Formats: sequence, C-alpha cells, structure tokens
Amino acid sequence: MEILNSIYKWIVTLAPPLLLTLHFMVIAGGLYFVFYMWKKAQLLYLKIQQRFPSKKDVAREIRYSIYTSIIFSVVIIAVMWLSANDYTLIYRPIDKYGYGYFVFSVFLMIFIHDAYFYWTHRLLHWKPLFKRVHVVHHMSLNPTPFSAYAFHPVEALVEVGIVPVIVFLVPYHYFALTIFSGYALVMNIMGHMGYEFFPKNFARSKATNWHNSATHHNMHHKYVKYNFGLYFNLWDRWMKTNHPKYEEVFEQVIGQRETVKVDPKTDQTDTEKAPAVVSTEVKLMNEQV
Ligand SMILES: [Zn+2]
Ligand SMILES: [Zn+2]
Repeated sequence: MEILNSIYKWIVTLAPPLLLTLHFMVIAGGLYFVFYMWKKAQLLYLKIQQRFPSKKDVAREIRYSIYTSIIFSVVIIAVMWLSANDYTLIYRPIDKYGYGYFVFSVFLMIFIHDAYFYWTHRLLHWKPLFKRVHVVHHMSLNPTPFSAYAFHPVEALVEVGIVPVIVFLVPYHYFALTIFSGYALVMNIMGHMGYEFFPKNFARSKATNWHNSATHHNMHHKYVKYNFGLYFNLWDRWMKTNHPKYEEVFEQVIGQRETVKVDPKTDQTDTEKAPAVVSTEVKLMNEQV
C-alpha cells in the first residue's frame, strides 16, 4: 500500500512539468509541421522573413528546448513542493480572496512578468552575459516556434525565475497560475512563430499598438539591439528601445500578403553562418554600448 502511495505521489508531482513540456512540444511541433512543412508554400504570404531557417538551426533549437524543459520542470517541482509545505503564497479555495481578486491577480502576474522580462532581457544583453549566455537564443536570426524555448541553461533559469518571484510576492490561486502559464506559453510561441497574423493597422492604431506583435520580436532577433519587450509595447517606448522603423516594417510585412504568390520553391534556407552573423551583431551591439 505504501508503495502505491509513493507511486501516486510521484505521478502527482511529475504530471504538471511533464504536461508543460508535452504541451510545448505538441503546440510548437504542431505549428512547425503546419507552417514549416505541410502548408509552407501556401502560407508564405504571412511569413515575416521570406526565408526559412536551415535544418541545422531547427535541430539546435529543439536540443536547447529539451534542456529548457528539464530546467523548467525541476523549478516547477521545487515550487510545488514549497507550496505543499506552505512556504509560498499560493492559496485555495478561490473564496479565500474572492473572484474579483482572482481575475485581478491574473492581470497583475502578466504585468509583473512583462516588467521582469524586459529588465532581465536588457541585463542579458550586457556584453559579458550576451556573449556567454543570451547568444544561444540569438543564434535564431529567423525564429521558428521552437526558438521560444531555445535558451542557454542559465537563461532558462532566469526565464523560469518569474515563477518563484510571483509565488513569494503576491497570493495566487492555482488556477490563476495555470491561466497565466498558458498565456505566457502561447504569447512566447506566437512571438517566435515567424508569421504575422495581426491586421494592417495593429502597430499604428492607438487601440492596439500597446500590445506587441510577432513582427516586433522577430525584429529583435534580426536587429538585436531593439525591441526587448514581451507582451506589451510599453517598456520599449518608455525606455526608447523600440525599433524606429517598427511600424514601417510591420506594414511592409502586411503588404507582402498582397504581393507574395504561392511559391513552390520555398526551400531556400538561411545560410548556416548564424554564429558568424551573430558575432557581427555582437560587435555592432558593443559599439553601441
Ligand atoms: Zn535578446
Ligand atoms: Zn526570442
């Protein structure tokens, strides 16, 4: 009976991180299959950069994503253990603080994460950290859904660091944390899709320009020293790090929808010189620092 109990405990402990990893692989893998293999030619008109990364690039992204999934899982298991032993502010039932607080806490988490991401990202662009750590993520000059988790293990720790930060700072219900994690995952994959789905005026209209787009983060991968933000286009505007041609590039990307025809020869790939290009970018960036 005791053995059954401990097996049950292990299943309950390992389920959330395993599901998280599986979700990522299923979502990123599914999107990759549709957009980069099956409907590649038909959907080219939505592609931000009109080229495709090499197989070598994608293999590297998947390899780093596996390391990241392991690191995320270890940290999440640790947080679950701390929570089970009442060391965190995670609570249940919902009634403890009411439904109003529940909804507010989801938005609060998103805003805290947005600030956390912007400032840790700026720190990762500090020359010594960029060269040793963040460069792994920037090897993807033309990101795919798998780039979303393609981090150096140290950066993976920084990224998942938001979880301990929020569970020790503010009270959250379990389900609010689940909604937040789902939103974070979807937005992260969307930012690395390599495809733009938003409408024409999205980057310019005051009703929507406070939110980032896939083009915004895609430009960060291409130009390195601009567009550090995650969900909202607020910190980049306040800190003057928004790419000066963001709106223009966004409109060019949308303009392609009219001009790009179905092209069966979409097998062109980026050169396999990504690390060399990144070093040029690092040089460029250092000149600016
Ligand atoms: Zn970066
Ligand atoms: Zn990225």
